[in-house]
Order: sequence, then C-alpha cells, then structure tokens
Amino acid sequence: MAIQPKKHEMPVQDAHVRAHNFKEVALGYTPEIAVAEAQRCLNCKNRPCVEGCPVNISIPEFISKVKESDFEGAYNIISASSSLPAVCGRVCPQETQCESKCTLGIKFEPVGIGRLERFVADYHNDHFKGEIAVPASNGHKVAVIGSGPSGLTCAGDLAKKGYKVTVFEALHLAGGVLVYGIPEFRLPKSIVEKEVDTLKKYGVDVETNVVIGKTLTVEELFEDGYEAVFIGSGAGLPRFMGIPGESLKGVYSANEFLTRSNLMKAYDEHSHTPIMHAKTVAVVGGGNVAMDAARTALRLGADHVYIIYRRSMEEIPARKEEVEHAEEEGIEFKILNNPVEILGYHNPDDRRDPKNGFVTGIKVIKCELGEPDEKGRRRPVEIPGSEYVIPVDCVIMAIGTSPNPLIKNTTEGLDVNRHGGIIVEEDTGKTSKEGVYAGGDAVTGAATVILAMGAGKTAAKAIAVSYTHLTLPTNSRV
Ligand code: FAD
Ligand code: SF4
Repeated sequence: MAIQPKKHEMPVQDAHVRAHNFKEVALGYTPEIAVAEAQRCLNCKNRPCVEGCPVNISIPEFISKVKESDFEGAYNIISASSSLPAVCGRVCPQETQCESKCTLGIKFEPVGIGRLERFVADYHNDHFKGEIAVPASNGHKVAVIGSGPSGLTCAGDLAKKGYKVTVFEALHLAGGVLVYGIPEFRLPKSIVEKEVDTLKKYGVDVETNVVIGKTLTVEELFEDGYEAVFIGSGAGLPRFMGIPGESLKGVYSANEFLTRSNLMKAYDEHSHTPIMHAKTVAVVGGGNVAMDAARTALRLGADHVYIIYRRSMEEIPARKEEVEHAEEEGIEFKILNNPVEILGYHNPDDRRDPKNGFVTGIKVIKCELGEPDEKGRRRPVEIPGSEYVIPVDCVIMAIGTSPNPLIKNTTEGLDVNRHGGIIVEEDTGKTSKEGVYAGGDAVTGAATVILAMGAGKTAAKAIAVSYTHLTLPTNSRV
C-alpha cells in the first residue's frame, strides 16, 4: 500500500468561530483517522523517534497497538514513560523532538506522533473504567514543591513505587503553567484535572495555598519527617524590558494577564476577576507565551492584536502550529520591530481625568537582521531614525520569565546560577543541599513541559536509588 505523504489533518474549529470562544481549537483524531495515521509508521528497527523524545516513550510500539485498534494497549505503553500523555499530546513541540527524527520525514511529512499520543490519552480518559492498582507503602515520605509537570511527574513516579508523596502548591489549583498559563482553548483544564486526579488515586496528597519559603520552609519540611524534597517551583517571575512607560495602566506581564484569564476565569462573564477588555493590543515577544496572550486578548474582544517581535518569522520561537493558528485567527505580526517606549495619556489641566495614566500607544523601532548570536540566531539590529507609534490601549510583555528567588533566599546551602536557576547534577537532579533535588524551569529557566517532566523523572529515580541502602518495610515495592 502506498504511503500517504502528508499527516492526516487534525480536525479544528473554524478560525472565524474559534477567535470568539475559549473552546479547544484542535478537536482530535477519530479512531478511524488514528488507525489510518498509525499505518503511515514504518516501524523502524533503529527507532530514531524514541531518541528524539526526552522521556523515551516506546513510540513504534504504541503506534503498532494503534494500528491494531488496541488503544488501551497503546495507552499502557505510553503511560509507562509519561505521566501526562493527554497534556504532552497537545502541547509538546513534537516538530523539534520525536517527529524531527522520524524516518518518514526524510521524504514525506513525519508520522503525526503527537496527534496519535493525544488520541490514545483521550481515548483512555473517555473509556477506561477499571481501578488503579495502588502500590503498597514503603513508609518513606517525600515532599514535592510545585505542581507543574516536573513536580507532578516526580510525585507520580515516586507514588507508583510506594512513597508517601505530598505536593505543596502555592496557588489554589494544581497544575502549574498547565492551569495558570496555557489557555483553555489549547489545553482544557478538565484534562489537567483528570491527570492530577489520577495521581491522587496513586496516593499523592496535594496541599494547595502553601508557599514554601513563607508558609513553611524547606528545613521545616525535613523537621516534619520528609526525607527528601524535590523543588519544581518553575520560573514564574516575569521580565520587563526596562523601557519608559512600563508602569502605565494597561501594561501587563503575560503571566498576570494569562493567570487572570485562565486560573481566575476572567474570560467567563460571571467571573469577578477584573481584566482589561482592550480593543487594540500589542503583545511583545514571539514565543508560545506571546501567542497565548495574543489569542486570549482576541477572544476577550480585541479588534486588533499585534505581535511585536524583533526578529523575522524564520526565528520566531513559538511552535509552528501555534503561529499558524494565530495567523488564521487574525493576529497581526509586526516583525523586525522592537519597542522603545510605551506612551500614555496625561491631561495636565485635569488630574482627575479618568483617562490619565492609561496606555495610548507603543513606540517601536524597525530592525534588520545582523550577524548570528551565540545560539546561531541572527541578531536584530535597530535602524536609526525608523521609530514609529502604533496606537494601542493595552501592552502585554511576553519576553521571558525567571525562577522566583524565594526558595533560594529561605534555604541555606542551595546554590543557584547567575540566572537564578538551581544548580543540579544533570543525571540525578541533586542540588548542593543534602536530600534536596530540583528540576524543570526552576533549574533551566523557562523551557518545555516534556523537559520538565523528564527532570521530574530523573529526580524520582535518584530519590528512589538513594533509599535502596535503607531497610525498607516488608511490603515495599522499591
Ligand atoms: P511550572 O509549570 O511553572 O510549575 C511550578 C509550580 O510551582 C507552579 O504551580 C507554582 O505556583 C509553584 N510554586 C512556585 N513557587 C512555589 C513555592 N514557593 N511554594 C509552592 N509552590 C510554588 N511548553 C511546552 O512544551 N509547550 C507549550 O506549548 C508551552 N506553552 C506555554 C505557554 C505559556 C503561557 C507558558 C507560561 C509556558 C508554556 N510552556 C510550554 C512552558 C511550560 O509550560 C513550562 O516549561 C513547564 O510548565 C515547566 O514546568 P515546571 O514543573 O518546571 O514549572
Ligand atoms: Fe514510525 Fe517515524 Fe518512529 Fe520510524 S521514526 S518508527 S516511521 S514514528
């Protein structure tokens, strides 16, 4: 049978319709489409796709099960390596990971591995009615700080080995960026909730509204009987450009804007969370965060949303699919433009004028591409005298985030690098402090869900190994 050269299309909501609602954009494969896509896989003996997956999912094996319509069998294979398959199937940058290594991709489009992963996870979530086998306790207590993908993965892997794990989360809901950052239209919160519920069934306790470094310290966790601590506190501290006008009303960090909309449900007309329903919005940045903020602003009622990015479309770091979706929905890309000032309204004759202090525009300077930087991306070079003003009433800064220094500042002996990332041993996640492990964005700075999960796995393995010299209770499964 001849191989179909292109991936089977993912059914999506119409761009004009979805630009005005928060429902999921991509609708997922049907079983028939999934089987047909699986049949494109060559079942390569050397498995290059597995090498491209940071958690080494047995990709050809799970796809073979899909070919046989054994979707539960496929799920069992994926879940042996990944604790959040419905999430990864939606948000992982497969085009730069597993799919970039796919043999089929040399001549045709690679196998839609991410789309198949998503299908299998959703099928399981919709159909599985069996009970989870809860492992016997081994009597050891581990504390996990943060409930993002790194913390949840570390907690899940340890719980499956019989550890008593408690996750401490600063916010009122578990999930990290998956619930407060990535919008509903890309990752429905019910999916994250289901993944968290599954971990709870394995015996993981989740304590929300606990800020480690304020409510409790790492030292106090040890005093409370936890024998190891994993820090997966992410990189939630927003960066600003340091240009004039950033304290005007109507300037948000993307994290604040998205948290208000996602976690605090400001998009819902019945919510009490205030958010600006601006008509013209500038989003500064070109990553996934910028795309999410821009598409959220559009759905909140903006007529014009501009992405202001200082390099060209070639260098834009957001996932290709997210850029395409944003373009289809009408987001306008002002590339090779760099902001120099945010302008505001000032009425010197009437200090009580309610418009005082609100954003009126953003001044940008045009750029051209120069020599490559240390990462090989061509540097933007400003063109003198090319400044112009784009009238806007809201500016959202999506130019990156850093790890919050709170835990470092309240934990003696925890070393961080000059960017605030916790320093760890690469193959164990061990920090400079005895019994403390770390992983995910708290170590690397803002990265990806799958890398955070991989780090959670590495640390869970190392924590388990560190206990093997102890005499474990007879019911232990370690
Ligand atoms: P987080 O997910 O940041 O979780 C950390 C958790 O720790 C948070 O819940 C936080 O509240 C909690 N915490 C922090 N400090 C404390 C404390 N002191 N005490 C207790 N709890 C604390 N990646 C992709 O792969 N694909 C995408 O499409 C994608 N899109 C993104 C879109 C947005 C808007 C953002 C912001 C990020 C996106 N990312 C994407 C990046 C990805 O989400 C992160 O790399 C990943 O979530 C990092 O996981 P983590 O577990 O390290 O941290
Ligand atoms: Fe299938 Fe592509 Fe992996 Fe080969 S590389 S086994 S074709 S998914």
